[in-house]
Amino acid sequence: MRANARANARDACDTEIDVANLKWKTPRSKTRSRRAANWKLGDVTTVQCPQCHQPKRPHFACPSCGTYKGRQVIKVQDEPAG
Ligand SMILES: [Zn+2]
Repeated sequence: MRANARANARDACDTEIDVANLKWKTPRSKTRSRRAANWKLGDVTTVQCPQCHQPKRPHFACPSCGTYKGRQVIKVQDEPAG
């Protein structure tokens, strides 16, 4: 009885009309736009320079006064008056 039911189901499948078979469940444009949405750079983290109190990147020499850990490490050109 069970085998017969299975055979009937298989026969039903065989007589099923062929429908369009999707190649992808998700369109490639959707996949690509989803991935592209995460392709961006984050904000640059800044901390206050202990010397000149200007924003600078952590673990970087300060671009405005040229110090790192209280030590002059790079020469900084004098800013134009203004
Ligand atoms: Zn500084």
